[in-house]
Amino acid sequence: MAKMSWAAGTQCVAKCRHKKPKPGELAFQKGDILTIVDSTSKKGHYLARHNDTGDEGLVNGADVRERQALRGDPSLSLMPWFHGKISGPEAVSKLRPAEDGLFLVRESIRHPGDYVLCVSVSGEVIHYRVIYQDSKLTIDKGQYFYNLIDMIEFYSNNKGSIATILLKPKQKQGTKSAEEELSKSGWLLDIAKLHLGDKIGEGEFGAVHEGEYSGQRVAVKIIKCDVTAQAFLQETTVMTKLQHKNLVRLLGVIPHKGLHIVTELMTKGSLVNFLRSRGRTLINTTQLLCFALDVCEGMEYLESKKLVHRDLAARNVLVSGDNVAKVSDFGLTKVDSKVYDNAKLPIKWTAPEALKKEKFSTKSDVWSYGILLWEIFSYGRQPYPKMALKEVKETVEGGYRMEAPEDCPPGVYALMRTCWEQEPRRRPTFHKLRDRLEQEIGKHNPASLVKDGD
Ligand code: ADP
Repeated sequence: MAKMSWAAGTQCVAKCRHKKPKPGELAFQKGDILTIVDSTSKKGHYLARHNDTGDEGLVNGADVRERQALRGDPSLSLMPWFHGKISGPEAVSKLRPAEDGLFLVRESIRHPGDYVLCVSVSGEVIHYRVIYQDSKLTIDKGQYFYNLIDMIEFYSNNKGSIATILLKPKQKQGTKSAEEELSKSGWLLDIAKLHLGDKIGEGEFGAVHEGEYSGQRVAVKIIKCDVTAQAFLQETTVMTKLQHKNLVRLLGVIPHKGLHIVTELMTKGSLVNFLRSRGRTLINTTQLLCFALDVCEGMEYLESKKLVHRDLAARNVLVSGDNVAKVSDFGLTKVDSKVYDNAKLPIKWTAPEALKKEKFSTKSDVWSYGILLWEIFSYGRQPYPKMALKEVKETVEGGYRMEAPEDCPPGVYALMRTCWEQEPRRRPTFHKLRDRLEQEIGKHNPASLVKDGD
């Protein structure tokens, strides 16, 4: 049954095509994403905006369903056709009954590290050895690929030098195709609608490009390594559950040459670079307080969802074109903990109990938030200036805390100090911090707190 009311801002997926709209109605294709603009329905119709085209118009509530959060499901796979180490005869038996174009990929038992693409053609199974050469994969030394996902994508669209185009993956038992699940839940984007622009950053796991998706400016993180892409896929499922004005918004993903993660574009880059490049002459205390409040509100939302960030720092906060600070990398915390060893923890930002006993909690995020406040009010300086990492660990454990940055309002420094209480329980919640920051903003710029109707 159609849902009777949609809140404004709800993201919906079109269940069918609406090709011939009447005047005032919106045209859409099956699978398009629409945002409800007005929650009051007129005869079952809602005012909505098409996310791709930006057009607004009426949609029938029965033609759309709410876009769902993806459940974190370990069986969700970008490579459901990958069967791991199985022998040739096992692969052949899996590809029965013979069906042209049915395929799987296995790891070679005889040549560890190499892969084999097995395809069913005219009642037979052909085994193509995939060679790893110069950090790339190839079957025929003509076409080279960064990873298996890339290779399967190519041979699904081109015959190249193999006997048939790949038509149907033989799914490994117990896996679910990420592509299908993403599509069903409305988070799969279409590569044809994406125009990649210049590279704007380089992360630990892949490059970030700016781009355009159906006319909207976006940022695209491209993860080329199969295994990392798979780990990121799990973590983007966290992002599908979160929507807040101070969290960088996920628009969707595309399994292409690994994984493309598409988010809103934050044109002013990372907060730390923003502060460093503009400095005191261009940014006043009220603006700094607004950044602090923005991040605090984003973290309060994560706190309410019982999610721990683990890597909160000014380098992981991005600034939008209209100077709103948003927390980024919040869905990727588990990837960090798997890939990073302890030696790679951001020591200067990490709470003592997290460094010593790996006790990460919202309260260890609050500690990091205190360091972030220090970064903001020192216009992007490196915390514990001139101190070596080892020294920081020891002196902080011994009770040392940073001094207030130059010209930092005393009320803000007092907040930092409460965030740096040795005992996690004695640190404030983000909710409490937000209250205190609002009071501080009121002191600096009383007009800013007068809301409509006050
Ligand atoms: P890391 O892996 O180091 O956390 P990211 O891969 O998230 O870094 O990002 C690397 C850089 O790319 C960032 O410092 C930032 O400059 C840029 N970047 C990332 N996401 C966005 C975005 N949504 N909008 C604009 N720039 C971004």
